[in-house]
Amino acid sequence: MTLQLFDSYSRTLRDFKPLEGNRVRIYACGPTVYDYAHIGNLRTYLFEDVLRRTLEFCGYEVYHVVNITDVGHLTSDADTGEDKIEKGSRRTGKSAWEIAEIYTEAFRSDICALNILEPHKWCRATDHIDEQVEYIRIIEEKGFTYRTSDGIYFDTSGLENYGYLARLDREGLSPGERVDIGEKRNPTDFALWKFSSPDEKRQMEWDSPWGVGFPGWHIECSAMATKYLGPMFDIHCGGKDHIPVHHTNEIAQSEVCHGTNLANFWLHGYFLETDQEKMAKSSGEFLRLQVLIDKGVDPLAFRFLCLMANYRADLKFSWESLASASRALDRLRNLYFSWRDGGECDPMFIEGFTRKICNDLNTAEALALTWEFCRSDISGETKKATLQNCDAVLGLSLQEWTPPTQIKIPEEVQRLVDSRRKAREQRDWLAADRIRDDLLELGYTVEDAAEGPLVSRITPSISENQD
Ligand code: AMP
Ligand code: ZN
Repeated sequence: MTLQLFDSYSRTLRDFKPLEGNRVRIYACGPTVYDYAHIGNLRTYLFEDVLRRTLEFCGYEVYHVVNITDVGHLTSDADTGEDKIEKGSRRTGKSAWEIAEIYTEAFRSDICALNILEPHKWCRATDHIDEQVEYIRIIEEKGFTYRTSDGIYFDTSGLENYGYLARLDREGLSPGERVDIGEKRNPTDFALWKFSSPDEKRQMEWDSPWGVGFPGWHIECSAMATKYLGPMFDIHCGGKDHIPVHHTNEIAQSEVCHGTNLANFWLHGYFLETDQEKMAKSSGEFLRLQVLIDKGVDPLAFRFLCLMANYRADLKFSWESLASASRALDRLRNLYFSWRDGGECDPMFIEGFTRKICNDLNTAEALALTWEFCRSDISGETKKATLQNCDAVLGLSLQEWTPPTQIKIPEEVQRLVDSRRKAREQRDWLAADRIRDDLLELGYTVEDAAEGPLVSRITPSISENQD
């Protein structure tokens, strides 16, 4: 079956075929690590995870690279404003390097809780300054740069095709009619290298052929994607907000340096929206995964909610829809758990399911089909074997789930529970409390019910992440 994906560059649904053999090279724009990711950001990484899982399900060998933006992303897309990381440093009183480290780890913990597969390669912008300087040097050599008092800029007027991805109307953007563009020659020009301001000591800055400063945001992705995947690879993805500026500029840089538009397919995830400004990190108060967890929501219920919509449609977030996704997931888990092992996959269903996801990752229809299959009179064993197979794409960890009352308690935990019961029988409350703390550290809580101690696990995927 042919996988079809919607390519934002050509704006068409195209048959996917790797550029080389069976190997698929993917680059996804990663987080700017100045704060926690909000659940909108996470929706984009969930879409990219489904993409990767689908490619693997189709038998391709995927190599997946994600960058960590830890320098150069300014508060304004117009190359003005502050560096988000340095700003985060001022907000928290921690160093810029510490900020980047803290939020990188928090991000990794979030994606792990959502059962998003880790990329094969993480790359940090600050670890690739030489590559970025070299990339800018080539753009300069080809005559596409100019200097202003605050940096080295890319001259977009020299590129006939500039803005094709976003179908930009460049005529309509002539400088006179637009807001102040400072020393930029064209409104669409963008910074490749920014000079450190003489008035303020930056924490992150480097020497370069042009002066001390730091790289612009767009150059990091071109430089690192090229380093790890080559000048033309299979799929580049990110959120739809990247189309008009970030990805447009990555393409411009690549066209000048390598004569390619960087990737054969450009895929963009649509937004998760809330009623209020809950998704704006700059507002300081926003919805992150931990807020959901604190309300007792299983992170995989959020994954399920995202699967219920198509990645190419905006999704309105509401607590009601999250609760209903959570109930649906529980139903599916309980059904799955009730079926016996040892069955064989149903090829007819697998074919139907594959057809849905190969139609531009239509997870909504794939799930609808899955419910139909669950309701059918096919045997439980067959259903279980079949859904186990499909879960490679859905990533709901169906096989690992056990009903709360039937959790498998590891021996070590059981031993502690028994010795706590003995301590309580001997009225040694101090020892009993100490053991309760030991259990908590292992990720278990214990309650004393009439029929004996009741042991439960604290949100498993999260406690696993924290070690
Ligand atoms: P950032 O950390 O701001 O660089 O964004 C990380 C990723 O999240 C990028 O791919 C963005 O396009 C994406 N993104 C930002 N806001 C949203 C949103 N509300 N819904 C879905 N994706 C988003
Ligand atoms: Zn990027």
